[in-house]
Order: sequence, then structure tokens, then C-alpha cells
Amino acid sequence: MELFRLSATKVASGVKDGRFSAEDVVRSCLSRMESKEPEIHAMLTVTADAAIARARELDGRRSAGEDLGPLGGVPVILKDNMCTAGVKTTCASRILEKWVPPYDATVVRLLLEAGAVLLGKANMDEFAMGGSTENSAFGVTSNPWALDRVPGGSSGGSAAAVAAGYAPIALGSDTGGSIRQPASFCGVYGLKPTYGRTSRYGLVAFASSLDQIGPFARTAEDVALVMEVLGVHDPMDSTSQPVPADEFSQALAARDLKGKRIGYLKEVAEYDYDERMKKALSEAMKACEEAGAEMVEISLGTAIDHGLASYYILAPAEASSNLARFDGVRYGSSSKDSESLMELYLKTRKDGFGDEVKRRILTGTYVLSAGFYDAYYLKAQKVRKVIKQEFAKAFEKVDSIILPPSPTPAFKVGELIDDPIAMYMADVFTIPVNMAGLPGISINVGFSEEGLPLGVQFIAPRWGEKELLSTAVVMEHRFGGAKIADGGDL
Ligand code: GLN
Repeated sequence: MELFRLSATKVASGVKDGRFSAEDVVRSCLSRMESKEPEIHAMLTVTADAAIARARELDGRRSAGEDLGPLGGVPVILKDNMCTAGVKTTCASRILEKWVPPYDATVVRLLLEAGAVLLGKANMDEFAMGGSTENSAFGVTSNPWALDRVPGGSSGGSAAAVAAGYAPIALGSDTGGSIRQPASFCGVYGLKPTYGRTSRYGLVAFASSLDQIGPFARTAEDVALVMEVLGVHDPMDSTSQPVPADEFSQALAARDLKGKRIGYLKEVAEYDYDERMKKALSEAMKACEEAGAEMVEISLGTAIDHGLASYYILAPAEASSNLARFDGVRYGSSSKDSESLMELYLKTRKDGFGDEVKRRILTGTYVLSAGFYDAYYLKAQKVRKVIKQEFAKAFEKVDSIILPPSPTPAFKVGELIDDPIAMYMADVFTIPVNMAGLPGISINVGFSEEGLPLGVQFIAPRWGEKELLSTAVVMEHRFGGAKIADGGDL
């Protein structure tokens, strides 16, 4: 078997037992990347030489009898909004095109301490704003299952990389769906942890009260493995919660869902969305029932109706404030020929930011401005509180909730790019989960007739990742798990 096809768990155990070397694995992944990248373009930076040097170093340490850690020799790819010491971190923006951070994000440090090998940085929507990766300043990424379609976004490069077999693990960030939606579009697994579970230190902020880092993988076991490494308290992030690192892999022992109550939403049943996604949802519900779960119809109230509108007030508000730091003085590109400080600010930001980022900054500044603050920002905060309460009430009745990760499978490149509202609507089923700070997982449950991956999403109460993993592993046994896309040949 070609080594790039192995799961992270199998790579780590094979390297540990000396069945193959970390260098063999890294070389296999890099050559897979080299052969597929011309058509997929999932990567913004590839750190091939450093990866091989690192793999050799790990192999040397293993030969000397050292335990490399739970991810010993495992190749990983990072969304390009996580800081990597000495490696460019662009956020897919012109304004950070050449920026090299002086430090590692906490998640990067944790991966490296656990023995992982960094292969490079993945494409994304600029500053994580978008749902298709088309907002990247450095070109679009193709969906490995259908090259004329988007991989989803904003973590589209990370999802495509795992689906194409570049690495068994990639990290993404999810502010309103950016892990779960691309996971569904690319046919892999993606977990958005509980807000506060993974550190945001060194993640370039989009909307700080919503952003959360999580993994893409091709098995539930690998999701658990990475979360055991990442799910630790970080004193460098004041929103990281001191919740003990759960033993996530314990959840993988589940073989059925007996005694579980899984909610499905009346609002979703009444929502007009793609038939293929409806079919995937109903097949997954049937599988849950056959595995012993009791399916319970519930209603949240306003979360699905008003979540989206309030998110597109709160997220831009936070973004407009977070992005104020890119002023041409401290970070990234700078319009050097400016004659005044004001001109420097204006020119740097005009040339440095793409259209969607500008749209968010304008919206955000507007809703925070005197006179509009109460009508928009404060009102949206109130809606957010109601959404939290609605979920809390729902979880008095059920252990988890099933819903689609997005209203459609992967759409065509260019299909929605000129219609921002239609693009925003694609987040209708993921955003409420971020608003309430809950964990959510997206898993593949099959393919449409034309071969497009179809996912479903499960959500759980805060700190309920284990619940999600045990449900995911039962579904994995039933639906066969995620596959590597060998095509472009649909
Ligand atoms: N598509 C959503 C947006 O554009 C979510 C993005 C994200 O989760 N980073 O805001």
C-alpha cells in the first residue's frame, strides 16, 4: 500500500514499530502532492525540504530508542492563518503576502511536540471570510472529487489536501462553518470543537468570540488522536478553558447508539434545500435508528431563522476591529510611496484587502458606529443569547442533534461568487452552532449519483466531543468512512 493512503494512527504505529520510516511517509505524501497539486492547488506554501529534514531527525531519534509521541512521523498541513515560526503565514491575503511570523501558534507547537511533520500551509478564503476558497488572493482550490467545483471554505485547501491524500491530517478554523462545510464538500471528517477547547493563540483572528481551530481527517480515530493532542488548556489564550484533556479515543469503542436520543429539527425539515442533502440526512437518520438511537423531533425556535442574520452582524463587527491592526505600519505590506500617515493607511488597505474583506470591514464598522450600535450590534448580541438558550433547552431532551452541514453539495467554481447573500446562505446550518459555542462534526455518508460527496453534521452540548466521536465511529462502520479522491475522473 502506498504510504500516503494510511491514516495518522497507522502512520504513527508503523513508524513506532519500525515498519517504515517517517522519511518514507513524508516522501510518499510529498510526491502525491506533487502529482495532484497542478490540478487541485490546495497549497500556498510547501515546506518539502524542512519536512524531509524533520522526518530524518525523527527517524534518528526513534533509532536511538526515543518515544516520538502520539503523532510521531505523521504529516500535517495547516490552514494558512495559523502562525508558523519562520514559515510564511499569509491568510491568503495580499496584505500578508510576505509575512513570516516569529512564533508558532500553540496548536502548531502541540503538533510538533507530539512528533508531527509539517508539510506546508493550505489555501483558504482571505482571512477566513467565505465559503468556497474563491476569496483567496492566490487562486482558487479545486474540489478533488470534481475539479470544476469548489472545495468549500473557508478552510477549503485543508479539506482538499486531506481528501486528495497529501496528508492524513490538516487543521482548519471554523467561525461559522469553515471546517464542517468543506469537510462535507470534500468527503472527509471535520470537527469544530467546543469554543474554548483548542487554543486560538497564534491563530490570526477573524471573529474572536466565534473562531475555533479543529482537525480534518479521514477517520474518526484520527480526529480523536489529534484532539487528544490539541485539547489542552493554554494560558496564552484567555478564552481557552481549563477543562481536562478528555480521553477522546475512549469514545471510539462505541458499536451502537443504544440509549441515545438524537434530535432532528422541524425547521430543517421545513427548509427548502437540495434533494441530495435531504437524502443523505434521511439515510443517516435511518442508520442512527438502526443502531439503536431514538430519533426525536425537536424545534429550536429562532436559531436557524435568525442565526445567519445576527452572525453577519457580529462576525463583521469583530472582524472590522481585529483587522484594524493591518495598517501598513506593524504587519505585512505597506504602501511606501505614501505622503502622509493617512494615505499610508488608505493605500495599504485598499491594495492589500480583497473585496469580501472590505465588505466585512464596511459592514462591521457600520454596525458598530454611534447611532447604529443599539439597532444592530446590541440586537444581534441578544439574538445570540436566545440561540444559546434554545440549544440548552434542546439538550435537556436529546444527547445530540443531526442536521445537514450545508444546504447543497459542492457547487461550481464561479456559481455564487457574484452573489454574496447566496454565499452567506450556505452557512445557515452551521452558524448557529458557533453562535452557541457548541462542538459539531461533519462526516461523509456517501456520494450523489454524479459522484459528489455528501455529509451530515452532528452537534452536542458544550464539551460533548466524545458524544460526537462515538456517533461518528458508529456511522463510520455503517457508511464505510472517508476515501481518498483518486479522480478528477468523475
Ligand atoms: N462562510 C462563513 C463566513 O464567510 C464562515 C467562515 C468561517 O467559518 N471562517 O463568514
